[in-house]
Amino acid sequence: MMMVSQSSILRGMSISSGIAHGAAYVLSSVDQMVVPRRSVEASEVDAEIERFNVAIGAAEKELLALKEDVARRIGASEGDIFAAQALAVRDRRLHEQVVTAVQHSRINVEAAVVEVIEKFVRTVEQVSDPYLRERAADIRDIGRRILAALAKDDGLSVLEIPEGSILVAEELLPSATARFELSRVRALVTDRGGRFSHTSILARSARIPAVSGIREVPFKIETGDQLIVDGVSGVVYVNPDESVRREYERLEAELSGYRAGLQKGLDLPSVTLDGTAVPLLANASKVSDTEAACLYRADGIGLYRTEFAFSIRSTFPTEEEQYQLWKRAAQRIHPRKIVLRLLDVGGDKQLPYFPLPQARNPSLAQRGIRLLLKNPGVLRSQLRALLRVSAEHPVSVLIPVVGGIEEVRATRAVLSQAMAELSAEGKAFDPRIPLGAMIEVPSAAVLTAVLAKEVDFFSLGTNDLVQYVLAADREDASVGDYYQPLHPAVLRVIRFVADAARTAGRPLSICGEMAGDPAYTELLLGLGLREFSVAPGEILEVKNAIRAATLADAETLATAALALGSTAEVAELLERRRLARR
Ligand code: PEP
Ligand code: MG
Repeated sequence: MMMVSQSSILRGMSISSGIAHGAAYVLSSVDQMVVPRRSVEASEVDAEIERFNVAIGAAEKELLALKEDVARRIGASEGDIFAAQALAVRDRRLHEQVVTAVQHSRINVEAAVVEVIEKFVRTVEQVSDPYLRERAADIRDIGRRILAALAKDDGLSVLEIPEGSILVAEELLPSATARFELSRVRALVTDRGGRFSHTSILARSARIPAVSGIREVPFKIETGDQLIVDGVSGVVYVNPDESVRREYERLEAELSGYRAGLQKGLDLPSVTLDGTAVPLLANASKVSDTEAACLYRADGIGLYRTEFAFSIRSTFPTEEEQYQLWKRAAQRIHPRKIVLRLLDVGGDKQLPYFPLPQARNPSLAQRGIRLLLKNPGVLRSQLRALLRVSAEHPVSVLIPVVGGIEEVRATRAVLSQAMAELSAEGKAFDPRIPLGAMIEVPSAAVLTAVLAKEVDFFSLGTNDLVQYVLAADREDASVGDYYQPLHPAVLRVIRFVADAARTAGRPLSICGEMAGDPAYTELLLGLGLREFSVAPGEILEVKNAIRAATLADAETLATAALALGSTAEVAELLERRRLARR
């Protein structure tokens, strides 16, 4: 019997628009290990506890083998770290509390492990002794190892999510999303992840609603609960009554009708009312996204985030694997251009097999090109793969998280070296492959004119730019009020970059999430943007907004916005403009 909780309403914030209904599928997680959370029958309790005992045995065995290996390769004291973990896996309190959680809360053992480990971590994190606080990472590590052993035990590496589910999780990291088919999911509900987080980007590109910022949501909803996710106003209805359900059925029908209406615009050109063509490209992160880009008649791929291909593997893909992958994407979109961004990890984006240096503030530490330049082998193999694809397709290379000219020069040096190697090997490539810089760090924005001397094009990454200009973490909902794309400082930076790029004669595209919101289109045109790269599902709505605008009106709007001093005033101006246009 599936336990169904009472009717309730949970309020968060919308991070991807739309309405959906369906049954909840709850995931729990320790760090990046995501596990399903479900109720178990009384008759299943013993079997669950037995699975736990087997997993502990397996984890202990693994740790003891690791201890021997590390002691032999590195040293006895390093090996002892794993000996201590092997003891901790057998900890009596851990065992008792997991068993109690399974027996009393009637939850599966994976969810019980997550609950107990998180409780231990919270306790340790509260102590004042910094040495003891550091132990939280060890406890998480132990949790991960037990969960990995449980996953092996029942082949859980792929999550079998029932068709039409609504996924409920603390946070959806790329490594977790790689383990299920997003097409089976109707909506996302999470605790963490702001409007510009990866959960949001994922939801928008899949065209599914998402609500975030609901504290401890995996503990407030149970697998099997009926949910309505209102991604327009950021509300989740748990087991709603008949009247609420009827209301939402109507709205869902209206919205899908509107979308169907937009399909008619598919073959219309992306051009303003006064005749300026504004190329509309697609953002992609996997080869199948190029399919959606073609469906929506994108003018190319303006941003291909290469991280996804790295995050679904357990080791770095070889140059040949990368070549095959990017070639397939470039082939699909040919003869249109494809802008592939070099691996952008660090900050909030992690790879399971690429341990990053500990950082007090990961967003301000080694990420993007900084990390690649510290790991030139990784950079070199990606550049070689991209160069080889450029022999047959119009490929451009985009550098992430550029702060100044030094990173551009250092990247060019590795690019030149890769070209020399390929020439010596007799392999073809485009020697004039365009190299571009992301403008997403304020220093790069300020230096647009300087960078223009050494790069061929720019791409404005407003997701990070907003976070860095306003000192508000894009992933942290608690500072969501400070993360404001319409902040006057952000608008002035955008205008500055657009002017500098135009004066220097360098193409500028905008690929952050701002570009995909039709409410911003006219303003962005007025600020000087003439090329947009958005999630495939957003192309038609943005095209509609471009086709409804004139450059003259857009410039008047931008001038008025730039004269304002607060986000609220800018938002009000846009709202008044929207009403006037109706
Ligand atoms: C950005 O920062 O705006 C961007 C497009 O890159 P990402 O969201 O991948 O950091
Ligand atoms: Mg970025």
